Amino acid sequence: MLRASLEDAAVQNNPHTTLITATAPVSPDTHGGRTKCLQRLVRLDLPVPRTVGLSFEAVYRIARGEMPDMALLLSPFEQGELLCVRPSSGDPDWGGPSAILNIGMNNARFDDFAQRLGKETAASLYARFVHSYSLRVARLDPDVFDEIGVEGEASLNAALRAYEEETDEPFPQDPAVQLAEVLRSMARAWDGTSARLLRQGKGAPADAGLGLVVQSMALGFGEGECGSGVLQLIDRETGLEQLTGRYLSQSQGRDALEGGSKALFLERDARGPSLEELAPDAFRSLIEIAQLMRLKLREEMQVEFVIENGRVHILDGVRVSRTSRAAVRSVVRLAEDKIITRQEALLRVPPSALNELLHRQVDRSVSNDLIGRGVAASPGAATGKVVFTAADAQAAAARGESCVLVRRETSPEDIRGMHAAKAVLTERGGMTSHAAVIGRGIGLPCVVGATEMRFQMRKKLLTVSDGRTFKEGDVITVDGTHGEVLSGSVPMLEATLDDAFQTLLSWADDERDIGIRANADTPADAQTAKMFLAQGIGLCRTEHMFFEDDRLTVMREMIFAESSEDRSAALKRLLPVQRADFTELFRTMAGLPVCLRLLDPPLHEFLPSDHAGHRALAEALDIPLSDVTRRVEALSEYNPMLGMRGVRLGIKVPEIYDMQVRAIFEAAISVTTPEMPIVPEIMIPLVSAKREVELVKMRVDIVAAAVRAETGVDFDYKLGVMVETPRAALRAEDIAESTSFLSFGTNDLTQMTYGLSRDDAGRFMSEYVAQGVFAEDPFHTLDVDGVGELLILGAKRGRMARPGLTLSMCGEHGGNPESIAFCRAAGFDYVSCSPFRVPVARLAAAQLAILDKLG
Ligand code: PEP
Ligand code: MG
Repeated sequence: MLRASLEDAAVQNNPHTTLITATAPVSPDTHGGRTKCLQRLVRLDLPVPRTVGLSFEAVYRIARGEMPDMALLLSPFEQGELLCVRPSSGDPDWGGPSAILNIGMNNARFDDFAQRLGKETAASLYARFVHSYSLRVARLDPDVFDEIGVEGEASLNAALRAYEEETDEPFPQDPAVQLAEVLRSMARAWDGTSARLLRQGKGAPADAGLGLVVQSMALGFGEGECGSGVLQLIDRETGLEQLTGRYLSQSQGRDALEGGSKALFLERDARGPSLEELAPDAFRSLIEIAQLMRLKLREEMQVEFVIENGRVHILDGVRVSRTSRAAVRSVVRLAEDKIITRQEALLRVPPSALNELLHRQVDRSVSNDLIGRGVAASPGAATGKVVFTAADAQAAAARGESCVLVRRETSPEDIRGMHAAKAVLTERGGMTSHAAVIGRGIGLPCVVGATEMRFQMRKKLLTVSDGRTFKEGDVITVDGTHGEVLSGSVPMLEATLDDAFQTLLSWADDERDIGIRANADTPADAQTAKMFLAQGIGLCRTEHMFFEDDRLTVMREMIFAESSEDRSAALKRLLPVQRADFTELFRTMAGLPVCLRLLDPPLHEFLPSDHAGHRALAEALDIPLSDVTRRVEALSEYNPMLGMRGVRLGIKVPEIYDMQVRAIFEAAISVTTPEMPIVPEIMIPLVSAKREVELVKMRVDIVAAAVRAETGVDFDYKLGVMVETPRAALRAEDIAESTSFLSFGTNDLTQMTYGLSRDDAGRFMSEYVAQGVFAEDPFHTLDVDGVGELLILGAKRGRMARPGLTLSMCGEHGGNPESIAFCRAAGFDYVSCSPFRVPVARLAAAQLAILDKLG
């Protein structure tokens, strides 16, 4: 007793090699999460075997050859005790080298164990250690040891012989030498390049440290019930209360010594006697321990235990590894049980984890056949037969077949095909390309910019980098969450918007202080936005309404009109259609604000691009084919993104905006009630000069006056400007004079600030990011330095003209947590993002507000 306490003191005086006691100076930042957790278990008075923690610093030194005082390190342990070493990184998710068990096994211990436990058991213990030492520490050829078993004396002797033959040395017998070599190999494994890259991929900082724990082994051998296992109180898939785990009794086999799982006594499909039957007291005490750990460690924990003669030893406690769905349910239950606060619950779920709940996902625990990669443009996963045209996608859907639409890139003409498909794969494009924006908007999994695959559209062939080809009708899976394309169909995890998800988000809404709206173009989008409790529509791209079959022809007639009369006749036919669209949007949103952007794209986007399409159009409009091709040519531009689009179109062909504005007003009047007055927000796209706004405003006011006069109903509306050109941001002060809101369209603003085509950037973006030219794809992550400066400048100048000016962001960045942080700091009123990103944005915004409150 005296000896032990003196040794403890000696160990405790060394801050880098610390006996884990209730008061030892250890923290997750110096010794890692496992060490700290073990200390908590000690503080709870749980039967934890003696453990010494090595700090990050100690392990760092070991990796460089500076070994700790081994005698001091071993001093707290009994002579001849077997030890194990486990990793203790800052975050359990960052991983680390796996544990090495049975250190201290040697010829003398073998004799000793053989007498107590029998030769077979002793030989297996020793053989397992020789195996792991040879492979993990001495780094010997695994093929040699693959052929040697780990059971029984013959295997032991073969393993010892193999070790000696490979190293020209006998197997080390001194426990101090064994331990030193184990520590060295684990420290070096953490330092290796691939381990570093792997953990950085999981979010670890480049210089993340590793702690190690050296623990005496509870072996689980003896007369009474002996064995080892793990136990937890929840189901890792659902997070629902469910006692789960595995236990291997020594009477059934020996695999548990290496963490094997042959006998799953606690699982539902278990065969054989359960732990409850074998050792009822130990079983009850384990459940109590798990409950205590949940209460005191404030987390759903997995208990790792050994039972020795019916007595429980707790080797470790780790947070239950679980799906995002289970994580959400766990934190909600912990908060409902008042173990953690609601704020803590909100902070514990990474916003991006919600994507897993919102969309079907590829089950990544199963290995799959990866055939290509691209930009992860819209989350979720789907399987289907390959089709190469939008028409084929519609035909497949009509036959009730799931299909994946494969295109070089998509255009507005593909919209219906996209709706019909289960997923989209494109060769070109980036985060704000057409396919990506539409995909996110309608919750369609989408991978774009898959440049390593060969898209042969005429031949209807997709060739992947290993030479395999996929033809029309072959089945592939698109994983839009990870930007991967897989061969065939794969196991999926279903989306689940359960009550825990809704509860967590309602708590988020209580905390957050920036508005979240949705970009919704159709009543179906609006329904989704409403379902996810968006606070309104921040951007309705009205052009998308014109791509339905019945409207497209009328729209084309309008574009082909030779005279103002013909044009107004076509527009008259479009008016009731638009009015009906807007009416439905206002109804769906039930009084929440709806911001409608006037027509933005160049007119030729509404025209067919190929010969067959031109002929069909000539037939539909009953005009000569040559007229169609001439008109299409006349409308084509060298650089349509910088050409006759947005407000320029509104000024050149003002009748289009007149019609849209009238439709908006008439729809608003028809839905308005005294309890639910509709105040539509009308937004002018691609503005670069104050005069543009004045001209449009003048006509909008005239239409409003006319509608008021015709209907005898008064109504309000708001007119705003979409800031998408650098000049609009720079001149925000005078532009704001005639507007009540500014909404920053960061897709075009990024395109124009960088002079970088949003549709072509995908071709070289990955190279640019890989070479560090851009830290991230600026279409994905807001460029705070450049585009961000324009946002701040525009916001400041706009509010100089109008202090109460409403400010928002509606580009695709709007749903990113970093962009939300930026907008919040810049004093924006709301962000608007794709409907499926609304929950992520609600949670991210709540976390920012909480972190501010907590200081
Ligand atoms: C934008 O440019 O940021 C925007 C929202 O508009 P669109 O993506 O339709 O060009
Ligand atoms: Mg735009």
